[in-house]
Amino acid sequence: MGLVVQKFGGSSVANTERIRNVASIIADTYKAGNNVVVVLSAQGDTTDDLIAKAQEINPHASKREMDMLLSTGEQISVSLCAMALEGMGFPVVSLTGWQAGIRTNSAYGSARIKRVVSERILAELDRRSIVIVTGFQGINKYDDITTLGRGGSDTSAVALAAALHADLCQIYTDVDGVYTADPRIVPDARKLEEITYDEMLELASLGAQVLHNRSVELAKQYNVNLEVVSSFTRQPGTKVKEVVKTVEKLHVSGVAKDTKIARIALVGLLDQPGIAYKVFSLLAKKGINVDIILQSIGRDETKDISFTISKSDLETARTALEEAQESLGYDHMTISDSVAKVSIVGAGMANNPGVAATMFEALYNGSINIHMISTSEIKVSVLVDVADADRAVQVVHEKFFSEFGR
Ligand code: ADP
Ligand code: ASP
Ligand code: MG
Repeated sequence: MGLVVQKFGGSSVANTERIRNVASIIADTYKAGNNVVVVLSAQGDTTDDLIAKAQEINPHASKREMDMLLSTGEQISVSLCAMALEGMGFPVVSLTGWQAGIRTNSAYGSARIKRVVSERILAELDRRSIVIVTGFQGINKYDDITTLGRGGSDTSAVALAAALHADLCQIYTDVDGVYTADPRIVPDARKLEEITYDEMLELASLGAQVLHNRSVELAKQYNVNLEVVSSFTRQPGTKVKEVVKTVEKLHVSGVAKDTKIARIALVGLLDQPGIAYKVFSLLAKKGINVDIILQSIGRDETKDISFTISKSDLETARTALEEAQESLGYDHMTISDSVAKVSIVGAGMANNPGVAATMFEALYNGSINIHMISTSEIKVSVLVDVADADRAVQVVHEKFFSEFGR
């Protein structure tokens, strides 16, 4: 007998029929002799609908109250799914994040799980109950409900799998695995049998929403046996693990797109030491993460610095930089939120020169203009106009996955 954690995303529990389908997958796992802990997301677009409701009442609602509201979506799913299993005659209990002992830090809206106090879950499993836990949430030291950031139910599942030493953590979703690109953008993208934690972490951080990036980080840290599978077809999915078989090792394992970013350019900064420090320490103090940075060569004793940040930080950054215009001494600021980052990821890239050039060639052939570039050992990212983003993913994918024979 093993312990299996199964997480089902929003589309997998979107309506009554789908909840019944999920209940039958859980029931089969249980009947095979396993202990089963389930994590559910809110149904369909519930979280978006709740955000829209909050906007109507107060567009500047506090993050604490937003978390109180958003956590309710998951509570609906777990109770309904438990009712379905009850009706099928299975012993089952649904628990909220706090009942399940998920303790987080205090960062409302983007909390991190600090630990899992697993007594309650273990007691329920001892009674051979199926345990169904609300994803995406926990409680902080003030006993307030916190949420883990959009897509965070994956992280709830992996954290529970790590804390309970589960034999397997399955992420059930609306695709049957991790593909070389989002199959909605590239219909002939290929399914990967396996992918390393490191590559998956890059892909997730660069916009591939199939897994929450923090869930991959935790899976790597605790060596969780992680698998992405479809709740609609009972096909083998994608294994996410430390090392993969050599045949699966590609120069490039995937292409990702992130549209939730904005670019800021500070034009006419003084070309002298300490300016970059001043700009970026100001943003750091506001808790703003900066991604790609580009500094122009100095001309006429001035230079320009442009950088990208998350769209959600744009207003805070704009206000802080406007207030500091005099002390930073720039001429003017330009902002664009119609940009997107397109990236290729692959552990094999480091030892294969020319990968970046191949990507740029694909973009050139597609007449797609590149605004910024950043590289690391296992990724190359470019900033393009958001209108070009899907096409950029398509041409880059086409180039790599026909040329390298995958
Ligand atoms: P869930 O609600 O189950 O958490 P998500 O919408 O968060 O599902 O994630 C699944 C979606 O991720 C897929 O429908 C797909 O469009 C998208 N996606 C983006 N990149 C990839 C990729 N490389 N492989 C598979 N799916 C991807
Ligand atoms: N319901 C949350 C969201 O829509 C969490 C999740 O689905 O993982 O972001
Ligand atoms: Mg998701």
